[in-house]
Amino acid sequence: MVDHISWPDLPAAQQPVWPDVDALGTAVAQLRTLPPLVFAGECDNLTGRLAQAARGEAFVLMGGDCAETFDTATAEDIRAKLKTVLQMAIVLTYGASLPVVKVGRMAGQYFKPRSKAVESRDGVEMTSYYGDGVNALPFQVDGRVPDPQRLVRSYHTASATLNLVRAFTQGGYADLRQVHAWNQDFVAETPAGDRYEKVAGEIDRALSFMAACGADPEEFRRVEFYAGHEALVLDYEKAMTRIDSRTGDLYDVSGHFVWIGERTRQLDGAHVDFAARISNPVGVKLGPTTTPEFAVELCERLNPERVPGRLTLITRMGAGTIREALPPIVEKVTASGHPVVWVCDPMHGNTREAASGHKTRSYDDVADEVRGFFEVHKQLGTFPGGIHVELTGDDVTECVGGTEGVTEDQLGDRYETACDPRLNRVQSLELAFDVADFLLD
Ligand code: PEP
Ligand code: MN
Repeated sequence: MVDHISWPDLPAAQQPVWPDVDALGTAVAQLRTLPPLVFAGECDNLTGRLAQAARGEAFVLMGGDCAETFDTATAEDIRAKLKTVLQMAIVLTYGASLPVVKVGRMAGQYFKPRSKAVESRDGVEMTSYYGDGVNALPFQVDGRVPDPQRLVRSYHTASATLNLVRAFTQGGYADLRQVHAWNQDFVAETPAGDRYEKVAGEIDRALSFMAACGADPEEFRRVEFYAGHEALVLDYEKAMTRIDSRTGDLYDVSGHFVWIGERTRQLDGAHVDFAARISNPVGVKLGPTTTPEFAVELCERLNPERVPGRLTLITRMGAGTIREALPPIVEKVTASGHPVVWVCDPMHGNTREAASGHKTRSYDDVADEVRGFFEVHKQLGTFPGGIHVELTGDDVTECVGGTEGVTEDQLGDRYETACDPRLNRVQSLELAFDVADFLLD
C-alpha cells in the first residue's frame, strides 16, 4: 500500500490534455503500486556527489537523448549511449584529474515541452508530439491523442533501461581495463578517436604499474552512474513520488535527478512547487530571459536549507549571449550565499533551422557556449561545475561541424532524433577533449 500524498492545485504549464480522465486515473493508480525505479539513498548519494561539484571538487557530465523513445530502448542503443558518456568521462577525469559525476538523460526522458501545442502540415492539424510518454511521433491524428497508458509504458521502459545500465556499470563492462574496448568499433581513424586511444594507452600503463605494485582497487571495476530526466508531466512524477520510510521525506523515485525546464520554471507554478517538496537533487534550466533576482528567488524556494548539491542551475543562454547574460546571475546567486552547482547546457540556446528545414546546431556554437561559460566563471572566481548535453552513441548527422565535419547538406543522411538534434559520438568525444582543455586552462 502506497501512502497517499496530497498536492496543492497550482497552475501547471505544458501538461497533456488527457481526453479520458478515467483512463488517466487507472494509469496513475497502476503507477502508484509499482516499485521504485531508484532508491532514496541513491538520490542522497548523488546529492553528495553534486555537493563536491558545488565546491569545485568534481565535474558533472549529464548527457543523453533529447527525447528517449520506446522503440530505441534497445540493448545496442543504450550501450552505445552509455559508452559515449563513459568515454567522455574518461577523457575528463584523466585530462583534468577531477572525479566526474555521471548522469544520463536516460530512463525517463519521455516527456517533451513544446512551443506550439498544435502542429499543422498541408492543412492537417494535430496535437504536437509531447514525447513517447504522452503520444506517438508519426504525423497521424490518432496517434497524437494523449494516451495515459503511455505513462505506464514509460515506467516499464525506464525500468528495462535502468536495469541494463546497472548491469553494464556494475557487472564488468565499465571496468577501467575496458577503456580500449569501448573504442574498438569506433573512431581510431578519427582525430578524436586517435586522441582517445592515446589516453587509453596511458591509463593502461598506469593500471599495469598499479597491478604490479599489488594494487587492484574495487573503484576501477564499477562506475557510479545516475539517471535524470525533466520532471515535466506531473501525473507521472507525482504518481512516482513516495514517502521515504527512513525519514518521512518525499522522493520522486522515477529517477535520481530531475530538472525543471525553461518553459515550466514559474515561481508560482506546480513544477517549482513539486521540486520544492521532493528531496531528490534537482535542477532548473535558466535561459537568457532569467533575471538575477529570479535566480536567487528560485534558490530560496528550492533550497531554503542551503544544502550543497541539492540545487543545480543549468544555464542555456546561447553562444552569443552567455558572456553578457551569465555574469550578473552568477554574481547575485554567489552574493546570496546559496550553494549551487553551475552546469552549462550548450545545446538549447543554439538551435536553428538549416536550409533543408532540419533543426540543427553547430558544433562551433556548442563549444563556444561552453568556452564562454568557463570564461565567465574564471572571471568571477566561481566553479564551472559541469555540462549538460544532448548526445547519442550513433553516428547520426543532426548537428553540423566538428572535425568529422557533418555538413548542412548531409543532415538528411542520418537524422534520427525524435526531437532536438544531438551530438554524435565523434562530436561528443571532441567536446570532452575541449572541455578537459578548458578545465586545465
Ligand atoms: C531539453 O532539455 O530537452 C529542453 C527542452 O530544454 P529547455 O527546457 O532548456 O528548453
Ligand atoms: Mn532538447
